[in-house]
Amino acid sequence: MTRKFIDCREFPSDMHCSVAISADSEEELLQAAVDHAVSVHHHSDSPELRQQLRQLFKDGMPPEHPPLRAQPGSAGGAGPRAH
Ligand SMILES: [Zn+2]
Repeated sequence: MTRKFIDCREFPSDMHCSVAISADSEEELLQAAVDHAVSVHHHSDSPELRQQLRQLFKDGMPPEHPPLRAQPGSAGGAGPRAH
């Protein structure tokens, strides 16, 4: 069984939410994601919201670093180490 997750860092949101949720099934994940979207982001639970959330599901585990903050040059670059 493939673990699935949704990463809130991929949402365009003003609050810079960094929550990622993972579960073994899409149904569990969807329920947790809807709860999160409603309670934290003040969305209203609707078929459209659920459909939108489903499209953001990914297989595997949430990455350690947020996808939106990809650092240029950090992959294969020979730049100085931060700190
Ligand atoms: Zn969030």
